[in-house]
Amino acid sequence: MSTRYEDARPIPQSQLDDARLETLAIRAGHTRTAELEHSEAIFPTSSFVYSSAAQAAARFSGEEPGNIYSRFTNPTVRYFEERMAAMEGGERAVATASGMAAVLSTLMALLQQGDHIVCSRGVFGTTTVLLEKYMARFGVETTFVDLVDVAAWKAAVRPQTKLFFLETPANPLGEIADIRALADLAHDVDALLVVDNCFCTPALQRPLALGADLIVHSATKYLDGQGRCIGGVVVGPDRLMQEVYGFMRSAGPSMSPFNAWVFLKGLETLPLRMRAHCEAALHIAEWLRQRPEVETVLYAGLSDHPQHELAKSQQSGFGGIVSFRVKGGREEAWRLIDATRIISITGNLGDTRTTVTHPATTTHGRLSEENKQRNGISENLIRLSIGLEHLDDLKADLGRGLDSCQR
Ligand SMILES: *Cc1c(COP(=O)(O)O)cnc(C)c1O
Repeated sequence: MSTRYEDARPIPQSQLDDARLETLAIRAGHTRTAELEHSEAIFPTSSFVYSSAAQAAARFSGEEPGNIYSRFTNPTVRYFEERMAAMEGGERAVATASGMAAVLSTLMALLQQGDHIVCSRGVFGTTTVLLEKYMARFGVETTFVDLVDVAAWKAAVRPQTKLFFLETPANPLGEIADIRALADLAHDVDALLVVDNCFCTPALQRPLALGADLIVHSATKYLDGQGRCIGGVVVGPDRLMQEVYGFMRSAGPSMSPFNAWVFLKGLETLPLRMRAHCEAALHIAEWLRQRPEVETVLYAGLSDHPQHELAKSQQSGFGGIVSFRVKGGREEAWRLIDATRIISITGNLGDTRTTVTHPATTTHGRLSEENKQRNGISENLIRLSIGLEHLDDLKADLGRGLDSCQR
């Protein structure tokens, strides 16, 4: 009894050329083995074998494509990479051990000493540390600018500027960058635009189609969606991804096959989950706005958000992150957080579980007072990542917090 690879009836990749995101999320990037498995297999192997010494030589020289060693490629990781490339509309993806490894691999692969980066001020805290402390140590300087102020990006450009880096929507205030305008500006000065697409995911926003050159992700967030694994991925055109891949396989921040498999399972429900996150977040944002204890709600889905129209034009949903300011300061914010019973107090986001964070003392706690002020990280700011629990239960829990926060 033997099975042949042909029996696996692989879906020809061309069959998926016109497929919608929901189909790509489930079907793209899987090559069945001769075992005819239906769901993707996990390949926990560090290396691969060859049928002959000549084949080994051909693989090592690059003459023959194929697996050599799992720091370079691994079938389960490749399934994830191909699925992500298809979903983001990019030629190629490279998976990494974490979101930060995706950012680092991109910068190390494409920049050299003397180069300059322009970066939005509100990026993920560790990205700021990587740029300000470590990249600077190797002679790559960064200028931080206001995400929504295109003129400020232009003014920050130097002859050495090689890369623009941004996150949109930004964390935790939910500002929206004009991706197309910033891509045009970057290309005018021969720089690349890198977008951290963590908050929207390809289910809501496809930055490559808006002119961005590369996308980085923390797969840890919505791509997994259930708070289980750390991982990242970079997506873009082959000519740039070759460099990113070269760095990744040499420096070694590779994704483990097990994590890749968890992310593949996460991707299958990503479009569905993102729709549910968006719907719930808008509902909670509107509900919070009616509460007398709340000063302001920061969510691009609200029609009076300053970038509401821009968000509508470049995203197909407003995402699951809702921030708000309570009346008062730290004391009131902490009291609200501590009075919740269901919502998790944690810095993670993009989970099925709703999470609550006090940015000023946690995720953004390392910023100086001046920087906090400039970035709008006030003591009364609270960030929610809206999960998939029942809305009535979430409102009851948040209501408990709001009821006790002003006392
Ligand atoms: C979490 C996060 C990262 C870093 O990802 P890790 O997987 O934690 O390394 C980068 N960017 C954004 C926007 C994030 O939320």
